[in-house]
Amino acid sequence: MVSGFSTKAIHNGEEPDFREGASGDVAVPIHLSTTFARINAANPTAGYEYTRSSNPTRKALEQKLAALDDAKYGLAFSSGLAAASTVILSLLKAGDHVVGFDDLYGGTRRLLSNVFINFGISTSYVDATVTENVEKAIKPTTKLIWIESPTNPLLKIADISAIAKIAKKHGLILVVDNTFLSPYFQKPLSLGADITVYSTTKYIGGHSDALGGAVTLNDDNYYQKLAYNQNAVGAVLSPFDSYLTLRGAKTLAVRMEQHQKNALALADFLSSSQKIKRVIYPGLKSHPQYALSKSQTSGFGGVLSFELDGTLQDAEKFLSKLKLFSTAESLGGVESLVEIPSIMTHASVPKEVREKNGITDTLIRVSVGIEETDDLINDFKLALL
Ligand SMILES: *Cc1c(COP(=O)(O)O)cnc(C)c1O
Repeated sequence: MVSGFSTKAIHNGEEPDFREGASGDVAVPIHLSTTFARINAANPTAGYEYTRSSNPTRKALEQKLAALDDAKYGLAFSSGLAAASTVILSLLKAGDHVVGFDDLYGGTRRLLSNVFINFGISTSYVDATVTENVEKAIKPTTKLIWIESPTNPLLKIADISAIAKIAKKHGLILVVDNTFLSPYFQKPLSLGADITVYSTTKYIGGHSDALGGAVTLNDDNYYQKLAYNQNAVGAVLSPFDSYLTLRGAKTLAVRMEQHQKNALALADFLSSSQKIKRVIYPGLKSHPQYALSKSQTSGFGGVLSFELDGTLQDAEKFLSKLKLFSTAESLGGVESLVEIPSIMTHASVPKEVREKNGITDTLIRVSVGIEETDDLINDFKLALL
């Protein structure tokens, strides 16, 4: 039976258990037990032995996440970066080389450049909005390409199918961090990627109350390696956070629609304001990659950035006048957040690099929540006065 996105989000992984003695829960319970007793020593009960290896609540989430990406397998980790680390250490070894998007999430860049480099895995960064740049950076030792689309905070788009073709041609693994659009708006595996990585902390969890990460994939061999290291390394998602993430994932579709509706309305409002220098949102026809974005996604997400006409102090003053938008890092929750990348999420990037890439002092990133559209616009209107 093929079912739609929300049907899978609500039911997959959580089919009621009607076996003798089971209680038919419609929501999977939080299985806190760290170990599982056996009737006889040779046979683990229902395949469960120890929670690091496998846990019923985590397994329900892993099945749900796989279903949302139309993938064969899903794996849940303790954070997005734990998922990324497990992918890298499972599939690469000393001497291997990675080609990464130059606008990758800062934590992923830090992981590759400051941590895995110590284990002999090197990374070259390219502007992957130009597909040829990716191919040009491939060396004989290259094993993997790591991209995001759209990127943060500049919302640049990479042509996922074109890059997947390059990966296939050179026998490389393509990883796509799909955190920003979630499986609701973009399915990298169906565009030719080998592995999808998520920070479920963001849209999939959706309520800013559970850190988590995930991987979805179809390849049996990669899955075996990742599942082995999920247990061997141990960066697993706890039963409680698995439950919160399961609960969040059920409403992903309705939340993503409202995030997008609000983001588009806010982007339109900002585009018409005299005090704004530029608005960056892939759903605006003015975005240079609007057509590419439309061709590979079914929506544009809930994050937008804009540049205020003025100084850093003006940007800070604007943020302090907002009442509904909290000034905070992170994104993807039901509540609206704003931040200034140059002094917050991207403060560690050298100023010259920042400015060259377009992350100016007055660039403001907005994670548009799912509050009433008019309330959000009015809050911006008043703060701009
Ligand atoms: C937040 C984020 C991560 C890291 O995830 P954590 O859950 O914070 O470890 C990775 N990629 C993207 C695009 C993110 O936004």
